[in-house]
Amino acid sequence: MTLTDTSPATAVVSVGSVGSAGSAGLSFAHLADLALPFAPPVTGALDDAALLSAQRQVAQIRRRVDATAAALAAEIEHRSRRELGSGGLAQRLGARTPERLVQHLTGATSREASTMVRVGALLAPPAPEIPDERPWLVAVGAAVADGEMSLEAADAIRAGLGQADDVVSVESLVEAAELLIREASTLTVEKLAARARHLRLALDLDRVAEREEYLRSRRYLHLYPQADGMTRLSGLLDPESAAIVTATFDAVTSPRRGGPRFVDPTLAARAEQVIADDRTTEQLALDAFVELIRIGTAADATIVLGAKRPGIKLLVTDADLRARRGLGFIEGQTERVSIATIERHACTAGLLPIRFDDDGEVVNLGREHRFFSGRQGVGMAARDGGCQFGVCDRPPSWCEMHHIDHWQRDEGHTNIDRGILLCRHHHRLVHNNGWEVTRTHGQTSFIPPSDIDPHRTPVPARSKSAALARLLEPAGVRP
Ligand SMILES: [Zn+2]
Ligand SMILES: [Zn+2]
Repeated sequence: MTLTDTSPATAVVSVGSVGSAGSAGLSFAHLADLALPFAPPVTGALDDAALLSAQRQVAQIRRRVDATAAALAAEIEHRSRRELGSGGLAQRLGARTPERLVQHLTGATSREASTMVRVGALLAPPAPEIPDERPWLVAVGAAVADGEMSLEAADAIRAGLGQADDVVSVESLVEAAELLIREASTLTVEKLAARARHLRLALDLDRVAEREEYLRSRRYLHLYPQADGMTRLSGLLDPESAAIVTATFDAVTSPRRGGPRFVDPTLAARAEQVIADDRTTEQLALDAFVELIRIGTAADATIVLGAKRPGIKLLVTDADLRARRGLGFIEGQTERVSIATIERHACTAGLLPIRFDDDGEVVNLGREHRFFSGRQGVGMAARDGGCQFGVCDRPPSWCEMHHIDHWQRDEGHTNIDRGILLCRHHHRLVHNNGWEVTRTHGQTSFIPPSDIDPHRTPVPARSKSAALARLLEPAGVRP
C-alpha cells in the first residue's frame, strides 16, 4: 500500500502542538538529522543523575511526538469518516479502517493506533459551528498537546469518565477531569484508569438516590367512581412500595396448597368441589386488598405495628454499608436503592440486612440489628402518641420506630430515649431527604436540610400523647 494522497494537511496545522508549519504543508525537516541527538547513547558512561534526567527528557520529547502523531491520526480518521464512503482516504488506499491505515503508516499495534485516533480527536478543537460534546476532555487534550500527559493516560481518563447524561453533569465531569489531570503525573496509567472509573462510579452513585427520589415522586393511587356504580382503582407503585405490596399480593394469590387428599378419584372429585373456591385470582386479590384495609383500619391505633413486616429483603454489600456509600437492592425488584434507604430499613425493627462481603460471601446472616422491642414500642407509643414530625397525625399503628443515633455508631444500644415514632413517610424524610433528629433531655427536635432552611434551625417536636399531656399538667390545674 502506498500513500498517494499528498494534499496539504491544513487541518493539522491548527493543532497547537505541531508548531510553526506553514499552511502549505507540514514538514519536520527543520529538525535536521534526528539520528544525531537520538543515536543510542553510551549509557555506561552516564552517572545516575544524568541517566535519570535523560530518561525524563526523552519521555517528554516522546510525549510531544506522540501528540503530533495522534493529531495526524485523528485527521486521517476524519478524512476517512463513514459518510465519505469509498471516497474516504483510508478507503481509497484500500485500508479497511483509518486505524488500520495509521497502523500501516506507523508500525503501531492496533491498540496503539486506536488510542492515537481517539486521543488525537481531543487535540483538534471542534469547528466553531459544532458544539463540543465533551468539554471536560478539552483540558486533557491540552495536557497531551503540552507534552505533560501520555496518550495512554489521556485515553484512560476519557474511557473512565464516560459520557455526561441527565444526572452526571458536564460540570461534575469537568471537575473530575481536572482532578485527574492533577493526579496523573503521580500515578501509573493503570492506577489513573482505576481512579477515573472510581470517580465516575461516585458520580453514578448520586444517581441511585436521585433516581429513587424521582421514581418515588411518581407514585399515586386514585379511585375513579364509574357510572355503573363500580369504582376503578388505578395507581403506580415506587419499587419500595411495590416490594411490600407484591409480597402480600403473592402470598394471598398463590395457589392454595394442601387440603384433604383422597386416593379414590370420585371422593377426590367431590372434595375438590367442596373446597373449591370459584373466585378468580383477580377477585381473590381484590378481596384480600379490601380485607387488609379493613383489618388495618380496625387495628388498635395505640400499638406500634410493623414488628413483623411483609417479607422484604434488602441486599447490600458489607463494604457499601460500612462506608455508607454505594447502593443496595430490594429482593424481587430490579431498581437499585440508595444506602439511605437501606439504613432506614435497618433502623426499623423487624428488618434483617443480609450482608455480603465484596466477594459475594454471606458474612452475617443471623445477626439482627433490631433496636427496639415490642415492649419498647408500647412505651414509645404512650410517650409520643404517634408520628413526631410536625403536625402529622398518624397514630402509633402507622409508625416505625426510628433510632436517633446512626446504627453503626451505636450498635446494640436500644435505650428507649434514643428512639422516636415516625410514620413511614416522615421516616423516609429523615433518612433519605436530609432531615436530622436530635433528642436531649426528653426534647425531640427536627433539623431541616439546608435546601429547606439554610440556617438549619431546629424545630422542636411536641408529643401527641394526650395521656402524657394530662400527666404533665401542673398539679394545681388538676380537677
Ligand atoms: Zn430511622
Ligand atoms: Zn408522619
